[in-house]
Formats: sequence, structure tokens, C-alpha cells
Amino acid sequence: MSEELNPFKIAQEQLDKAAKIMNLDPTVHQFLREPMRILEVTIPVKMDDGSVKIFKGFRVQYNDARGPTKGGIRYHPQETLDTVKALSAWMTWKTAVVDLPYGGAKGGVICDPKSMSEAELERLSRGYIRAIGRFIGPEKDIPAPDVYTTPQMMAWMMDEYSKIVGYNAPGVITGKPVEVGGSLGRGDATAKGGLYVLREAAKKIKLDLSKATVAIQGFGNAGQFAHKLVTEMFGSKVVAVSDTKGGIYCKDGLDFKKVLDHKEKTGSVTNLPGTKNITNEELLELDVDVLIPAAIENQITGNNADKIKAKIVLELANGPTTPEADVILYKKGILDIPDFLANAGGVTVSYFEWVQNINGYYWTAEEVYQRLDQKMTKAFWDVIETAEKYKVEPRMGAYIVAVKRVADAVKIRGWV
Ligand code: NAD
Repeated sequence: MSEELNPFKIAQEQLDKAAKIMNLDPTVHQFLREPMRILEVTIPVKMDDGSVKIFKGFRVQYNDARGPTKGGIRYHPQETLDTVKALSAWMTWKTAVVDLPYGGAKGGVICDPKSMSEAELERLSRGYIRAIGRFIGPEKDIPAPDVYTTPQMMAWMMDEYSKIVGYNAPGVITGKPVEVGGSLGRGDATAKGGLYVLREAAKKIKLDLSKATVAIQGFGNAGQFAHKLVTEMFGSKVVAVSDTKGGIYCKDGLDFKKVLDHKEKTGSVTNLPGTKNITNEELLELDVDVLIPAAIENQITGNNADKIKAKIVLELANGPTTPEADVILYKKGILDIPDFLANAGGVTVSYFEWVQNINGYYWTAEEVYQRLDQKMTKAFWDVIETAEKYKVEPRMGAYIVAVKRVADAVKIRGWV
């Protein structure tokens, strides 16, 4: 991996930039540039053919000054320790920006889950938890699902942990199925949290969402719920959506149910009768009020940022905008809501799941959404006020809010 593309180096550079603007104490800065703890484990797994395969896994606990660390577990063939370290840093800033009483962590196992059977995945999931078991816990470090890990795997992991400690410990892991302590409202939490933020952003720029047009890149969990909910909650018109095969456009608006049925039948949103096929590049540059990147990273770059016409960009995807594009969008007066604020609804409902597990008392979906709304709304205004105070783009505003909260906790604990 080249040094410029090393995600951990990028995470450190982002922190360095925020530290400079906010005049962060140099010792605290040095401490926050590195994870506090890294565990590397070797996991033997009995395969279905009787052989034993050896897997490598990681768990990185970046910083726990604000509370137990929190972050997902990824199963990926190209997993690297530097990726996990970077993601654990970003989790630290994400939990801090929405003011959850958590630090940040991340885990990963190098494996190709698509080539493994369900039974092999269960043995791997249980093996991973046996390997990191003493390192995690409801008051220490709380994993969750991420790339290629599922609620079912979280249930196996929680069960394995409960066997190790000798009692039922649902609070050790979030993203579980509701039957074993999962929270209502987790399925659409990321999109819903993002849309609460969008509502506040629209107030900020005086945009009437009931008359707004919206383009969404990506039609998976985040993109689909964004389409459904932006129509239901605000009456906005979604004029374009896309997936890996390309996008579709209809100036009168796309009916969510029709697009979903078509995608389920054909495998893609493209070629839906009554709509025009467009490319993913064209989608990003459409003349719409709101653009929601909900697919993959590096979509808005130095090459196309100047052509973005939306008034608000809501980053449900992680890393859709490059640093170069950030500056261009800011200069153009586009309100770009950074990923770790816009998509923090998922981790916020994970936090609610943990709170419910610890109390053994479960909330209605309405209670979950109401509390999610409060958290996201407050986080949005904290970020905007800070960005305005320091005269920086919202992403830097979000960094400053988050880093200050972590730095204050580090100092008040007397670590530095
Ligand atoms: P997903 O796998 O369910 O869906 C991804 C969608 O993006 C698919 O429709 C896919 O076709 C599309 N896509 C992939 N590559 C594309 C490309 N090059 N051009 C256009 N479309 C492309 O994933 P998801 O859970 O919806 O996550 C999407 C993004 O949101 C990711 O960046 C993820 O990290 C972020 N995110 C998701 C959650 C969550 O709770 N789902 C939480 C936080 C962040």
C-alpha cells in the first residue's frame, strides 16, 4: 500500500489538521495520533472437509477516555492492520461527535466469507471471540456488525462470550437480532439519523424539503431507506438513484416501491420503464437540491466537485468526498454534511441497544427514533456552530468538536 493511500496515515493527517486549527496541546495531540491498544490473534478453524485453516484477526482499541470502546468487526480478504487502525480512529471521532459515552475501536478478520459455509462462519465467529474474549466486554469494548458480518454472527459472538464469562451478557455486542436483545429501529437507523440531520441542514439554508429534489447514489441499506424515508418524512421528490450498474432519472420523481421491485426482479435499478438511464457520474452532477452519496468512497473528487449543483450533500457513505473536493464544495457554498456526522445514526442506535441490554428494559421503536432525533439534531448544530466559529468546512467543524471532547476527557482523567 502506498503511503498516500494508507488509511491510517490519512486518519493521522486529518487529526493533525484539526489539531493545528484548534491549537491542541502537543502532548495530547501526540497521544491521540496512535491507538491505545492493538491485539493481533491467530484463529484455527475446523473446515467442513475436516481440515483446519488458520485465520488472522485484529482488534484495535483506539481511545477509551470517554467510555468503553465501540466499533464493528469486518470480515474481508484484503483486511489490513492499518485499515483497522484508521477505522478505529474514525470510530473515536464518530462516537464523540454525537456525544455517546464511548471511545472508538474496530476489529477485522482476514477471510473470504463468500467462500465459506454457514457452519464455517459460525466456527470462525466463535473462534474470534474466544481469541479476543478477555479484551472485550460490556464495560470495556463493544463490537458490532460491519462489512460482511451479520446480525446472526453477532448472536453467535454474544453467545460465545456469554459462555466464556458464565452468564448472559447481551451488552457485549450490538447489532444483534431482536430475539436476543437487538433494538427496534436498527434496520433504518443510519438513513433515519441522516435525514434528521438533513432536516436541520434544510432549516439552516432555508430549503423547503417538501419541494426539494433529491438524487441518491447507491441502493443498498443506506440508499434504499434514504429514498423511502425522505419521501415519507418530508415529501421530497427523489429524481435519481443508482447502483453499480448505473442510475435512473425521472424528473417527476421515482416511486420507491417500483424501483425496489424492479431491482429485486432484475438485480439492478437500471432500465426501469418510464425512466432514463444515466451514469453514476451524471447522477452526481444533476441539478438537484440534495445529493446523497450512499455507495462507496471517493465519488466527489477534485475532478467533479466543481460540477456538483446540489445545495446540500448528505454523506451517508463513508469517505465519498476527497479532501480536495471538500475545499471546492465549501468555496461553492454547498453545505456538505460529513460522513461521520451524517451516518452516525447506526452507531447511535447501537448505543441505545447497549443501554437497553444493560437495563434489561426495552423501548418502543418510537422511543428509539425520538432519542435518535435528539442526538442527531444536537450533533448537527454543535458541528455547524463550531465550523462557523473557526470559519472552516463542516468536516473540520466535526473534527474539532470530536477531538476537543476526547482531549478534554484525556486531560480531566489526568493521563496527559
Ligand atoms: P450496501 O452494500 O447495502 O449497498 C451499497 C450500494 O452501493 C449498492 O446498491 C451497490 O450497488 C452500490 N454501489 C457499490 N459500488 C457502487 C459504485 N461504484 N457506484 C454506484 N453505486 C455503487 O451498503 P450500505 O450498508 O448501504 O452502505 C453504503 C455506504 O454507507 C457505505 O459507505 C457504508 O460504509 C456506509 N454506511 C452504512 C451504514 C449502515 O448502517 N448501513 C452505516 C454507516 C455507514
